[in-house]
Amino acid sequence: MKKTFMPGFKDTGQLFDHQLKGLKWTVSHAYNGSSFYRKQFEEAGVTPLDIKSLDDISALPFTTGKDLKDGYPLPLLSVSEKDVVRIHASSGTTGKRKVLAYTAKDLDVWCDMFARCYEMAGVTGNDRVQIAVGYGVWTAGMGFQLGCERLGAMAVPVGPGNIDMQCQFLVDIQSTVFCCTASMALLMAEEINKRGISDKINLKKMILGSERSSSAMRARIKELMGLEDMFDITGMTELYGPGTGLDCPMHEGIHYWADKFILEILDPETLEPVEDGEVGEMVVTTLCKEAAPLIRYRTRDLTRKITKPCSCGNILFMHDKIMGRSDDMIILRGVNIYPGQIDEVLSSIPEVGSEYQIHLERKDDGKDYMTIKAEVKQGVDPDNTADTRDKIRKTIQSKIMVSCDASILGYGELPRYAGKARRIFDNRS
Ligand code: ZN
Repeated sequence: MKKTFMPGFKDTGQLFDHQLKGLKWTVSHAYNGSSFYRKQFEEAGVTPLDIKSLDDISALPFTTGKDLKDGYPLPLLSVSEKDVVRIHASSGTTGKRKVLAYTAKDLDVWCDMFARCYEMAGVTGNDRVQIAVGYGVWTAGMGFQLGCERLGAMAVPVGPGNIDMQCQFLVDIQSTVFCCTASMALLMAEEINKRGISDKINLKKMILGSERSSSAMRARIKELMGLEDMFDITGMTELYGPGTGLDCPMHEGIHYWADKFILEILDPETLEPVEDGEVGEMVVTTLCKEAAPLIRYRTRDLTRKITKPCSCGNILFMHDKIMGRSDDMIILRGVNIYPGQIDEVLSSIPEVGSEYQIHLERKDDGKDYMTIKAEVKQGVDPDNTADTRDKIRKTIQSKIMVSCDASILGYGELPRYAGKARRIFDNRS
């Protein structure tokens, strides 16, 4: 029988039973193992015995990024330190990083989750997986690597950047799968096109992580590389690392591994559940994480639940693409804007390419102004695009309810990035 990393639940009822068991275990594990959680629970007036149904999760206190920083270097630790076999850290730019500890079982669970992502993307033991993400204390490289080995495919661990070596291995090793950020994928696609080596490579799939990819960007990469398919992988250091969800080949949403964590979508202001289909903050509770369990951890990532079952038949629940982080939210004249909304508008205009920047400034009249700089697609004359400017302004106005100016640039004029693209330039303060 074919080995699978998918859970064997027959229906969602079985999955909910499994979640309740995991929730009870996590709550009592954290309460008994961590003085931080014990104190949180006492302040909220709950004990493990109060968890009788999945709805009782709403009585539990929240955990935040600040709690992780305050508990530096080993926050939320709920096991004895001798049971910790590895740590990873987030790429915090200022101050203390978030450090997360793992037991041997945590790593095992993470590897299985990651192997499941590859399996869902249709990657098999015959594939050669070129991994172009950061190795080191970050979770990315290790996750893609160990998940690939767990699946039984061949890992080609090149790491990020290094375009010459990437191209060399694509040609010489004939990698079939490429894993990177969306920005790096665009950079590679353009480079392969420029070097004229597209008929010498054998790339079939790309798995894109850690950065939102717009549909314009995906279409461009797919076309340049002649790919069969590309997938968005999700994850964060706090929740094991990348590999906690993936969009399946139907691309109707991102299946997330609901047998390993519970996902709530809450209004970031009121912390009450949003209506089904509304955008809110992802709040996660792990079901079997030992070293640093998460209880109602506020991820700051914004998305919405997809309630329609996926036509692929897999019962694992789905959420939409990540719309952005609540930290990235732009407030312009009282309107909340997520970069993902700008992506969507630009992707809907045929002559506009995938690369754009959002510039914000405060003028002498004391008001805030937004200018969107967008590239045209390759082959479109940027000097003949008065219409395009107008379309961007009008569509932003009607879809996002805010006025903006637009400036149109030629193809390739905006910078390309080997990591995550910088898109917001806020010059208001
Ligand atoms: Zn599906």
